[in-house]
Amino acid sequence: MTTTDDTASSTEFGLTFELSPSDAVRADAEREAILSDPGFGKHFTDHMVSVRWTLDDGWHAARVHPYGPLQLDPAASVLHYAQEIFEGMKAYRHADGSIWSFRPEANARRLQRSARRLALPELATEDFVESVRQLVRVDSAWVPSAPETSLYLRPFMIASEGFLGVRAAQQVDYHVIASPAGAYFSGGVSPVSIWLTTNYARAGKGGTGAAKTGGNYASSLLPQQEAYANGCQQVLFLDSSESAYIEELGGMNVVLVYADGTLVTPDSDSILEGITRDSILELAEARGHRVERRRVSIDEWREGVESGQIVEVFACGTAAVVVPIAELKGEGLHIGSPAAEGGPLTMSLREELTDIQYGRRPDTHGWMTRLDA
Ligand SMILES: *Cc1c(COP(=O)(O)O)cnc(C)c1O
Repeated sequence: MTTTDDTASSTEFGLTFELSPSDAVRADAEREAILSDPGFGKHFTDHMVSVRWTLDDGWHAARVHPYGPLQLDPAASVLHYAQEIFEGMKAYRHADGSIWSFRPEANARRLQRSARRLALPELATEDFVESVRQLVRVDSAWVPSAPETSLYLRPFMIASEGFLGVRAAQQVDYHVIASPAGAYFSGGVSPVSIWLTTNYARAGKGGTGAAKTGGNYASSLLPQQEAYANGCQQVLFLDSSESAYIEELGGMNVVLVYADGTLVTPDSDSILEGITRDSILELAEARGHRVERRRVSIDEWREGVESGQIVEVFACGTAAVVVPIAELKGEGLHIGSPAAEGGPLTMSLREELTDIQYGRRPDTHGWMTRLDA
């Protein structure tokens, strides 16, 4: 069932989801209280999706059921060998009440690429999109409507076979959970300070850097603490072999803007290819900007900012969309200024993308998929 072609998914699809409604659905008043100040990743909706895969039967037992703890064999290989992958996407409520997702097929294809790298089974694109649609339909009241809020969706896949031998699991579970998310920036978009770690790498050549897998995050937590200790909100990683080229942040991609309007972003096989970055670059290209995906050294960044050739730098990812980078700090390194404001191109690309996502501007790229009809 595995394929090597990026655009193809597993050959079979067409799961039927069985619904067991929760008998403990939160009352309207309680839900509204949560939706008025949801924060991020703290509250979950009333239901979740589960689908099982076994070597013998493939994907089966697709269900939407009450949200709650998983029952997991203590020998499940995810707990010991970290055979796990995930996705992150959002459901957006438009002004007319309808609910939409942004490029869900791209998330499905990325989950398939991650599955191949982690020796997990692939879930067909159609089944992936349907799993998200099923959950959003039953929990549609949890999609907030205040500006820049959303329902964050977290599909994930874990090796649940109870077996301590080291090999790809023969039983795997796929789940989707959903969590209302408040506006990432409540008082206007504020630029961040970034810490450049030279003590740790995020991913190595031939490793799992291009897969969305928990292990990459586990290894970023210590350098992230280093960033906090140095007064920064995020950590930037360099390539692991030469420690000279920019990779990405712990969970966001990086883009540099040149004075001539060119956008430059690192190309590396140990970077997670963000759908936000891809979309932002497509919007910029449509406006006539040149886009370069190539190796970018830390020296290029420093010299470019010093000479005035690099005029804006930003990070991007689903959770925060686009975040201006005010300064980059590291051992013996300081680029930019903490007082720097978000650049004009950064802010207008952010606005164009969120306008499309929230239905405030026509979706000329065919990126939006309706979930509630
Ligand atoms: C998810 C993720 C991103 C951003 O991807 P989006 O599709 O834009 O949300 C960037 N880097 C890493 C390591 C990630 O896990």
